[in-house]
Amino acid sequence: MKVGILGATGAVGQKFIRLLQNHPWFEIEALGASERSAGKKYKQAANWIEDVSLPDYVAEMTVANCEPDQFKNVDFVFSGLDASVAGDIEGSFAKAGIPVISNAKNFRMDETVPLLVPEVNPDHIALIKNQIFTTDGSGWIVTNPNCVAVPLSLALKPLYDAFGIDMVILTTLQAVSGAGYPGVPSLDILGNVVPFISGEEPKIKPETQKLLASFSDGKLSQPEFKLSATATRVPTINGHMISATIKFKRTPSSIDEVRQAILEWKNPITDLDLPSSPKKVIMLHEDDRYPQPRLHADQEGGMQLHMGRLRKSEVFDVSFVAMAHNTIRGAAGGAILNAELLKVKGFF
Ligand code: NAP
Repeated sequence: MKVGILGATGAVGQKFIRLLQNHPWFEIEALGASERSAGKKYKQAANWIEDVSLPDYVAEMTVANCEPDQFKNVDFVFSGLDASVAGDIEGSFAKAGIPVISNAKNFRMDETVPLLVPEVNPDHIALIKNQIFTTDGSGWIVTNPNCVAVPLSLALKPLYDAFGIDMVILTTLQAVSGAGYPGVPSLDILGNVVPFISGEEPKIKPETQKLLASFSDGKLSQPEFKLSATATRVPTINGHMISATIKFKRTPSSIDEVRQAILEWKNPITDLDLPSSPKKVIMLHEDDRYPQPRLHADQEGGMQLHMGRLRKSEVFDVSFVAMAHNTIRGAAGGAILNAELLKVKGFF
């Protein structure tokens, strides 16, 4: 399939280019970014920050404006657009009959738009049928969640299924790549922790509840639980860590019952054998020193969720840490996995 990338020059856009090299199903056909970049060759428009060489064929491609007319030859687009423009641009592509697989926040909470993590809520893709961008259903939007809601929902899914969730208190330790490029000024973050990330905390609860919603008769039914989040920026490069404490609806008999719920959880899309699926979705570390972003964020192509420090909590039921690569599992890699699921389910 021929794909376009909107926001191709940004941190997430570059990750798309890297991950789509040699992809068995998807081939890059067109690249889009702002007026600043349009008309330039990609190698001149983008400040390449990936630690592999920019592929020659991409370097020589001319960046287009993000207008549907410029993307006539693609089957669908991935979007890594800045949220300030993603709403209008992504909507115009869907209306033009070009499906959009987005990373931006603009459509995530729309009740007709799937907010998708394939291992958590693959059935939500049927929401696409409720979308009205085009009369023939050819244009639609699917989003992937915020880069904290992705690892949080993956970690909570087995626990939610087994015990129900009553309350969550969490603190995030988020890598600098989560702020895009050029991102956080070096004098703010080197040797430091910044205890606030603008706009981050309010997304975590609603997105996680939408991801854990049950789906029937074309409608989502979302769980109710309390969640208090503190989002911090730390001087790691990749890999967002979450330290969470959970109170369940049903108290587990022991910490081993919680461990078993995680270890015995069945990935609902294993049989599809999608190209970007990690073999083991959740790696539960027993060594108290793990997981660590530098050691584990890139494992299984950056698509694995790492959990560790699972222990009984004196205040709630359990505490643990969870960590995943924010620009791969939490952004471009997650979006590519979404597209793979949509392809095998016949949505294109
Ligand atoms: P970024 O590095 O700032 O890149 C933004 C992209 O948007 C650039 O390609 C930029 O093109 C383009 N753009 C800006 N204004 C535009 C306009 N008026 N018209 C068309 N294109 C425009 O940001 P990022 O970190 O890659 O994030 C991209 C999106 O993904 C955001 O919505 C972000 O919230 C989301 N996201 C990011 C992460 C992460 O870990 N970084 C994780 C999940 C989701 P120019 O280069 O031409 O300006």
